[in-house]
Amino acid sequence: MVKTYKIATLKGDGIGPEVTEATVKVLQAVEEKSNFKLDFKYGEAGYHCIAKYGTNLPKETLELIKQTDACLKGPMTTPEEPGAPVSVAVTLRKIFNLYANVRPCRSFPNVESLKPNLDFVIVRENTEGLYSGAESLLAPGVGVALRIITHEASLKIADFAFKLAMKRRKHLTYVHKGNILRITDGIFKDAVKEAQQNYPEVTVDDMHVDAATMQLIKQPGIYDVIVTTNLFGDILSDEAAQVTGSLGLAAGANIGESYGMFEPVHGSAPKYTGMNRVNPIATIMAGSMMLDWLGEKAAASKVESSVINVLKEGKVRTADLGGSATTSDMADAILAKV
Ligand code: NAD
Repeated sequence: MVKTYKIATLKGDGIGPEVTEATVKVLQAVEEKSNFKLDFKYGEAGYHCIAKYGTNLPKETLELIKQTDACLKGPMTTPEEPGAPVSVAVTLRKIFNLYANVRPCRSFPNVESLKPNLDFVIVRENTEGLYSGAESLLAPGVGVALRIITHEASLKIADFAFKLAMKRRKHLTYVHKGNILRITDGIFKDAVKEAQQNYPEVTVDDMHVDAATMQLIKQPGIYDVIVTTNLFGDILSDEAAQVTGSLGLAAGANIGESYGMFEPVHGSAPKYTGMNRVNPIATIMAGSMMLDWLGEKAAASKVESSVINVLKEGKVRTADLGGSATTSDMADAILAKV
């Protein structure tokens, strides 16, 4: 019997619908050539839901996600006023305990990167740190945000990163600010050292986050796997996306024990909404990561090689890559390669 994967598909806000629809088209083209089916189940979530439902994650959508094998998520706009609904991505990461945020950072053919031939991965703890949402006003003009770091979550993410390093060049850099955040990053550092005992073949370096951001510009080739806490990982991965090429190319996977959510690293870029202008590759590569996680390795490679072939040819280039092709031109070029 042909295996069918149910995919919760959340188009999101801003440029989300454009890049998600482009990705679904490419995934459907791959599915046609494969011996599995993808059943896209569309759910509403994001800023545009707040007026209608009073929340950015309606309970119908949450129920829909629970019935699926994986989630393909477009970027969403997060309101910034205190008391407004919190980020959908952060909420879903917590609900499904998607503790590992995996962001491959690599150079692509014909795409200008700061240094040639870059290939490293940022593994970001995805459930706690400064994203715990525990923030309050102590007195007018005095606020506090809790940076929650636990041994349990740190050990889990460290172990995940070591496993990944074992499949790659066996080098891990753990990034922290232990000279200032002695207790919280002390817990994180101790957990990495504990996990290290099980992976004697992996060479380990540690780096303060400020030095790590500098090295990312100066000599990004030193990295293989970077593991770090939530906010540091978020900042480093946007920087890494630009160092390796463009935010329009960077994909991310949110992985838990039994569920995975796949999305571009970028946000909803509201100023480009509906302009058919942005690069869909980040979301298409997130789709490739989803197929890989589902175990459909050949199909995942097919999507990736189609993207690489289009970039190699260099004829279809979106504005972020210095060209004038549209979002749909790029999607069509990629699916023609599939
Ligand atoms: P952003 O990533 O949306 O945009 C920053 C800039 O990056 C854009 O102005 C554009 O120049 C470039 N860019 C982004 N995506 C691109 C693409 N596909 N192709 C080409 N260029 C691209 O970041 P922001 O402006 O800080 O955030 C906008 C909104 O997105 C905010 O509401 C934020 O909360 C939200 N956000 C959501 C997620 C998510 O859903 N996971 C992640 C990050 C930001």
